[in-house]
Amino acid sequence: MNDEAAARIALLRSLSAAPSYVFTTVLTRSPISRIDVSRLTGLSQAAVTKAVAPLVAAGLVVDNLGSRRDGLPGRPVSPVAIVPEALVTIGIKVNVDEVIGVRTDLTTQVLATHRAPLTDHDPDSVVAAIAQVCARLEAPLGPDGGLLAGVGVAVSGDVDTAAGVVRESANMGWTAVDLRALLQDRVGAPVVIENDVRALTITEHMFGVGLGIDSFAIVTIGRGIGAGLHVNGEVVEGVHGVAGEIGHLPLADRDRICACGRRGCVEAVAATPAIVAAISEAHGREVSITEAVQLAHDGDAAATQAFTEAATTIGTAIASLVNLTGPDLVILGGEAVSNFDLFDQNLLGAYREHVFGSAGRCRIVIRPHTFEDWARGAAAAVIRTLAR
Ligand SMILES: [Zn+2]
Repeated sequence: MNDEAAARIALLRSLSAAPSYVFTTVLTRSPISRIDVSRLTGLSQAAVTKAVAPLVAAGLVVDNLGSRRDGLPGRPVSPVAIVPEALVTIGIKVNVDEVIGVRTDLTTQVLATHRAPLTDHDPDSVVAAIAQVCARLEAPLGPDGGLLAGVGVAVSGDVDTAAGVVRESANMGWTAVDLRALLQDRVGAPVVIENDVRALTITEHMFGVGLGIDSFAIVTIGRGIGAGLHVNGEVVEGVHGVAGEIGHLPLADRDRICACGRRGCVEAVAATPAIVAAISEAHGREVSITEAVQLAHDGDAAATQAFTEAATTIGTAIASLVNLTGPDLVILGGEAVSNFDLFDQNLLGAYREHVFGSAGRCRIVIRPHTFEDWARGAAAAVIRTLAR
């Protein structure tokens, strides 16, 4: 990164709690009047003005004092706004078959995208692919990385963000991979490693539904079944870095073995590979996911049974999560929602059967996140480390 970016990051890291809160409020709700910043942060307007001044001087925030009026003659709204281009981030989503990267501005708006295929899961190969994607996305920023504030990498599984280590990822076949250390010398900025569903939750926390709702959950269905939790305005991290592992709730038969090695996990019947394996076994040959979906649409008995069992198990798991945490909203995403017609009736039926009392007022909405959205989550994870 260049000196300008380093100075901006140093300023953000030096802020005490109240000015930092002012910055995140402007960042996530920009443009916003000083009156509203004051109301949301509980600080006096004088304190807000004092907090905004160094942010304006550093080029992170622009002060449109008096440029708009709130309808009352002589009463300027004094809006302040974030300068999105003040810093740049790169977000990476590691999938089993490819690495997807985005370059974003400070508000996680995507400026460019690049992908690289993965031929194997050896950590060195994956690191090389991530470095290649980063190099392509960094190139327009100049030899020093310009305003690049950091590189976020989202991986499924048990991720120790503080240590930068992927402790366990069944999808990648990884145990104790020190991903940050492997990457740090290959990219020109600090590296943040994050669990992929939590990264998605951080984006919603900072720039999405979290702005209006205190408690929500994201449940993703597809190759894995994951959940990100946002309770009372905060993303639930888990003291040990693990929380919301809905895919490993033991709600399936014990004879079903999960990719994680345990018995009876939700993923053992409801993850896409488990559904495909069950249909393949019934037909005595390998079927693809595309064919599995087609068979289910055609009414094939084995395919219907596999999708029914998956949907019922996911619905029960979502009811369990809602009963435990009482969110206002569950956002259902992940690649399998593109075939949600195969899940909806049984999933919602099992959910309604098991959700308890008023917890059932929780709304469930479908949001088909793209893999770019997941990469954007990794970028949000970087931005959150700058301003908390
Ligand atoms: Zn499991």
